[in-house]
Amino acid sequence: EEFELDKEYQKEILERERKFLEELKTANEVFDKRTLMILFSILAGKHLSEYIGVINSGKEAVVLKARKGHLYRAVKIYRVATCDFKTMLKYLQGDPRLHIKRSSRRAIVNAWVEKEFRNLKRASSIINAPKARLRRENVLVMDFIGVRGDPAPKLKEVEIDWENAFKTVKDFMIKLYEEELVHGDLSEYNILVKEDEIYFIDFSQSVITQHPLANALLIRDCINICNFFKKKGINCNYKDLYKEITGK
Ligand code: ADP
Ligand code: MN
Repeated sequence: EEFELDKEYQKEILERERKFLEELKTANEVFDKRTLMILFSILAGKHLSEYIGVINSGKEAVVLKARKGHLYRAVKIYRVATCDFKTMLKYLQGDPRLHIKRSSRRAIVNAWVEKEFRNLKRASSIINAPKARLRRENVLVMDFIGVRGDPAPKLKEVEIDWENAFKTVKDFMIKLYEEELVHGDLSEYNILVKEDEIYFIDFSQSVITQHPLANALLIRDCINICNFFKKKGINCNYKDLYKEITGK
């Protein structure tokens, strides 16, 4: 009887595999074998029930929508072949939390995703950001930010109360800094709006405040944010924003 159950389970996994591959084919996505193995091992370990579709496909990473029971999840998969691992190494080297023993392309990408995983964990305990759920090599599973399966739009795509939105963004930047985190890639593209609530995403380039690049990245974040909010009629200056965040 147990054997029968196993067979049923195998069939279920094969069926999911077929559906998933079909979905990827229509989205023109190709993952390497190892990445596919990881994606399936996540299903087999019941960390996810099903991959549903592609939310976004970028040069370095693909974000899939997935389901775990009745909850949606987002799965960020780094493309090992097209990652800019030289830049990744530059960011990784200043981070005392990480030890990169081997420095193969894959090892660097894996360390990169581990860094994003940890940053996301820390960030989501402080501000609105997706909770990090699982990290396996170049694959990161996190909470899905959206409503009834529709991913939340980016800040650049919505119409909201800009005065309030700016206040919240500033508040989130201050809170992150107090906990020694700089987002590092903050802009209207990495902020989502779900039912009028602001969420920061994409903590891949985040660094701790002691990192040699932290200050330059924070200044760039302030410039990006001010440039965007200025276009929305908000009176803001990046130097003032920087001062408010750092107290300097
Ligand atoms: P990239 O490095 O490609 O910019 P992001 O982490 O910014 O990767 O994700 C790309 C896009 O996927 C985002 O702009 C957003 O639209 C969508 N996305 C990412 N994470 C989530 C999430 N947790 N929930 C819903 N949508 C997401
Ligand atoms: Mn992004």
